[in-house]
Amino acid sequence: MKLVSIVIPFYNEQELIQSFFSRLESVIDSLPYSFEFWVINDGSKDQTQTILEEIQSKDSRAQIIQLSRNFGHQSALCAGMEHAKGDLIITMDGDGQHPPELIPEMIRIAESGYDIVLTQRLDEKGQNPVKAGTSRLFYHIINQISDTQTLPGGADFRLLTRQVLDNLLAMPEYHRFLRGMVAWLGFKSVILPFIPAPRIAGKTKYSFKKMVRLASDAIFSFSMVPLYIGLSAGLFFLILAIAEAIYVLSFWIRGDIAALEPGWSSLMFMMLIIGAVLMIILGFIGIYVGYIFQEVKHRPNYVVQKEIKQNHTNQTSNSKNV
Ligand code: UDP
Ligand code: MG
Repeated sequence: MKLVSIVIPFYNEQELIQSFFSRLESVIDSLPYSFEFWVINDGSKDQTQTILEEIQSKDSRAQIIQLSRNFGHQSALCAGMEHAKGDLIITMDGDGQHPPELIPEMIRIAESGYDIVLTQRLDEKGQNPVKAGTSRLFYHIINQISDTQTLPGGADFRLLTRQVLDNLLAMPEYHRFLRGMVAWLGFKSVILPFIPAPRIAGKTKYSFKKMVRLASDAIFSFSMVPLYIGLSAGLFFLILAIAEAIYVLSFWIRGDIAALEPGWSSLMFMMLIIGAVLMIILGFIGIYVGYIFQEVKHRPNYVVQKEIKQNHTNQTSNSKNV
C-alpha cells in the first residue's frame, strides 16, 4: 500500500487542533492508503505541544516535530517535508481553511499521472478585503517581474510526488517562497480550485510583518527587476542632463547668456530627485546583498528542539540544513 505523508504546521492553534484532526481522520480513514502526519509545532507559546502529544497518543500515525522557536510557515513546512517518507506528500494548513475533503481527489489526480496537484483559492466569503486586495496586487507584481509564473491565489495546500519533493528539497536556498519554487521546478501539474472555509477558531497567524517578509522573499529571490529599476532611472536622468546641456548650450550659441535665470529651485528639485533615486537603488542593492549574505552563511532553515516519533523515541537538539 502506498504511503501518503500529510505535513501540517501549527503555531499557537490550541483551540482548533482536536477538531482539525477529527475532520482529517474522518476523511482519510476510508482511503486505501497508509498515512503518516508530520505535525510541526512552530514555536507555539500556548498548549499546542500538549494537545499534539495527546493526538499522537490516540493516533500513532502522528509524528511531532517541535521547533526551537517560531521559524515561520514556510520553514515549518520545510521541516515537515524533510522528514516525510511518503510516496505522495501533501502540505496543508491546520486551521481548517484547507478542506481535508479535497485530499481523496488530490490523490486520485496524482494517481492518474500528475506530479503536482496545486490548489487555488477562490473568493472566500467574508474575506478581509485588504488581504484579498494585497494578495491580488502581490501576484500581479510578482508575475510581471519574474520569469517564473506563480499561480494567483495559490495556497500552500498541494500534493507532490516523491520525485518532485526530492527535487524541491535539493534546492538549497535559505529564503523560501515555496509557491514560486514549486512553479520553477516544472513537472506535470494540475490546479484544483477550492473555496477556503473560515478558520475553525482563532485569528490568522500571518501577521502583517510575516506577509511582508514572504512577499519580499518572493520578489527578491525570484526577480532581478528591482535592480533594473535603478538602471532605467539612471538612464532617464542621463537623458534629462543631456537635454539640459543642449538647452543651456543653445543660449551660448545665440550669445544670450544673460537670459539664463539663476535657477535655484529647479536645481534643488533635481538634486532631491536624484538623491531619492540613488537612495532607492542603494536600498535595492542593500537588500540583495543582505539576501546573499544570508545564503552564504548556510544557516539551517529551522532548528528542531524535539522529535516525537510514533514509537515515542525522542531525539533532542537536532538541526537540519535544508
Ligand atoms: N503557521 C505557522 N507558523 C507561522 C504562521 C502560521 O506554522 O509563523 C501555521 C498556522 O498555524 C496555520 C498555517 O501556518 O496552520 C497558515 O497560517 P494562517 O492560517 O495563520 O495564515 P492565513 O490562512 O491567514 O494566510
Ligand atoms: Mg489560515
